[in-house]
Amino acid sequence: MRIVVHDLRNWTHDRHRTVDDRPYGGGAGMVLKVEPVVEAVEALRGPKTRFLLLSPQGRRFGHEVAKELSLEEHLLFLCGRYEGFDERVRLILKPDEISIGDYVLTGGEVPALVVMDAVIRLIPGVLGDEESARENSFAQHLLDHPDYTRPASFRGFDVPPVLLSGDHERIRRWRRKEALRRTKGLRPDLLSKAFSSQEDLELLAELDAEAG
Ligand code: SAM
Repeated sequence: MRIVVHDLRNWTHDRHRTVDDRPYGGGAGMVLKVEPVVEAVEALRGPKTRFLLLSPQGRRFGHEVAKELSLEEHLLFLCGRYEGFDERVRLILKPDEISIGDYVLTGGEVPALVVMDAVIRLIPGVLGDEESARENSFAQHLLDHPDYTRPASFRGFDVPPVLLSGDHERIRRWRRKEALRRTKGLRPDLLSKAFSSQEDLELLAELDAEAG
C-alpha cells in the first residue's frame, strides 16, 4: 500500500502558484480555483481510481461505505479548504462526495485521514487479528461487547466470572448477549439491521425478561 500527498500548487500556471481566489458576487472567504483542481484530478485519476471529494454536503460516511471503499484498488481524495471549491469542480469531475458528519471542519485533510483509517483496517492482512475487525462495533450492525483484561478485580469491580471460565461457548454467547444489550440500550436504531438468528432472538428475550 502506498499513500501519496499531492500539492495542488503543482497544477497552477502563474508565478505565485495560486490555488484560491475571491468568490464572484462577494462575501467572506476564498474559493479553490477550478483549473488546478480539475487538472490535478485528471492527471492523477486512472481507469481504476475511485475519486472522492470530502465535503460536509456529501453522503454520510459509515461502516458500509468503508467496506465498499476497502475493495477499491486506488482511492483519490480531494480535500477542500476555505469556502470549498468552485462549483465547476463538481460539475466537471462528478466526484463521489463523502461527509464524515454534520459539522464543518477547516479542511478535508482530517476527514480524509478518518476515511483512510477506517478503510485501511478492513483490508485483509492489515490488522493482526482478522477476527477483531469482524467483531468491532458496526461490523455486524451491533456495538462491540465489553472487554476486560487483568487484574480480575479492581476497586470492587470484578471481571464477569464467565470470562474466566475457559468455556469458549459460554463466553461467545455472553459476548453476543452483551453486544445486543449495548446496542439495544445505546443504538436501538441499529438492531433492526442486525442479523437476528434464533439465538439472538432468545438472547433479546432474556434481556427483556431481565429488564422486567
Ligand atoms: N462552505 C462549505 C460548506 O458550508 O459546505 C464548507 C467548507 S469547509 C470550511 C472546507 C473543507 O473542509 C471542505 O471543502 C471539505 O473538504 C472539508 N470538510 C469540512 N467539513 C467536512 C465534513 N464534515 N466532512 C467532510 N469534509 C469536510
